[in-house]
Amino acid sequence: MVVGGGPGGFASAISAARSGAKTVLIERYGHLGGMATGGLVNIFPNLSDISGKQHIFGLNQEIIDRMKAKNAAFCPDEEDLGTTDSKVLEHYLNANMGWFYVRQDPNIGGRERLLYTAVLDPEVLKAELNDMVMEAGVDLLLHSWGTRPIMEGNTVKGVFFESKSGRQAILAKVVIDSTGDGDIFVGAGAEFDDELQSNFRTALAFSFWIANVDTSRLEDFRKSHPDKFALLMRDLTEKGGHSFYFTGLLQNQEGVLWFHPMHVKQVASDAMDVEELTRWNVLGRRGAQITYEFLREHVPGCEKCFIMQTAPQLGTQGGRRVIGEYILTPSDMESDEVFADTIVILANNDNGEISARHPCICVPYRCLVPLKIDGLLVACRAFSSKASVNQWFNIIPHCIAYGQAAGTAAALAVRAGIQPRRVDYKELQANLRKQGVKLPE
Ligand SMILES: Cc1cc2nc3c(=O)[nH]c(=O)nc-3n(C[C@H](O)[C@H](O)[C@H](O)COP(=O)(O)OP(=O)(O)OC[C@H]3O[C@@H](n4cnc5c(N)ncnc54)[C@H](O)[C@@H]3O)c2cc1C
Repeated sequence: MVVGGGPGGFASAISAARSGAKTVLIERYGHLGGMATGGLVNIFPNLSDISGKQHIFGLNQEIIDRMKAKNAAFCPDEEDLGTTDSKVLEHYLNANMGWFYVRQDPNIGGRERLLYTAVLDPEVLKAELNDMVMEAGVDLLLHSWGTRPIMEGNTVKGVFFESKSGRQAILAKVVIDSTGDGDIFVGAGAEFDDELQSNFRTALAFSFWIANVDTSRLEDFRKSHPDKFALLMRDLTEKGGHSFYFTGLLQNQEGVLWFHPMHVKQVASDAMDVEELTRWNVLGRRGAQITYEFLREHVPGCEKCFIMQTAPQLGTQGGRRVIGEYILTPSDMESDEVFADTIVILANNDNGEISARHPCICVPYRCLVPLKIDGLLVACRAFSSKASVNQWFNIIPHCIAYGQAAGTAAALAVRAGIQPRRVDYKELQANLRKQGVKLPE
């Protein structure tokens, strides 16, 4: 049983079912994808390291390929990965997507290079994910909120959930907590860490899109009147609106500005406090409204704009993290350690000189296994890690990779009649390799 249908959850469910386990997936909203769809943060970054070499494959690549076939994904051509060609880089910088696609590589004197990132259409992705879980044979229950685990001693035996059908329960041999926030492991009594890094990543965020913008006129104005544009943006910010936007890059979109992410306030927020969630949602919506009204009235190219959609899911990258059999710490970003139970190799792109010397990091399966609770795996941003390292390795492709490993491990555990912590690492890795996951030799 998988609780939560975000990147960690849909990947867990698809992999468990494809590996032969009878699988049910419950999700509180009416769609799958979590932040990648409902949070409007539909960008899969850091698939390559700063030299442009791809490390994340498996289910991530499969999703991107399926979306490309629907003309609903945008990513650089393979032959351009790692290029320093300023003309190619300009395209991404003009769209404000620099951080996602362009990074300075200290190994070539700090010159900028192109990374592998994919932008996906969130509405098409919702439908594609439904297809993928159905094709895998997963029993899907939307509109179902996992409330607490059913325990027998220290072992999770299933989960209670609430929906319009009332309170129901499902018994399961393995439960995967992919709620992002660890709703299930907290109820199971697992130890966890909830230290919040006080930075923009742990601020609650409310994303929105503004459409029907004449982006050529807007760009002309920004470039021909930089001072006037800067003053207007300052005025907008002072009024409580948001001045930073991306221009989408998707071919099936024209005239759309993505206000993503719009951190309501750049300080840590408690995403577990319903009053705080409510307050930031109200403020976020007010900010979107102010932005839209201001753009319409004052900014050339935006006269006919409207708010196309706002994110149903408030975002945060901070929160509770399970204490697992292994805790990923900052020293792992510099150790180059290849764990015997490595389940994914991740690019280490955001740590300056450390990234240059240690372009990759391995993540062990034990980060998904709670220390003292059986019958449970954690496959989402709440994996076992210190806050300072979690913030760099909890993004969408990472959580998909954790889910792919957890779902595969759960199926192996069920088949062998053993606890997830007893799964044979070599067998797990052999199965992941068969699914196209790249692991150390
Ligand atoms: C503002 C912002 C911008 C970001 N930008 C990017 C970006 O551009 N690219 C990127 O890769 N990452 C980005 N991230 C990070 C990324 O979105 C998350 O780290 C990632 O989505 C985590 O995946 P997850 O599966 O752990 O959780 P989520 O994406 O939050 O998914 C959790 C799912 O579980 C469901 N759920 C929760 N509780 C329950 C419950 N009790 N019962 C049933 N269902 C439940 C939710 O509805 C949701 O579908 C951003 C994050 C934020 C906050």
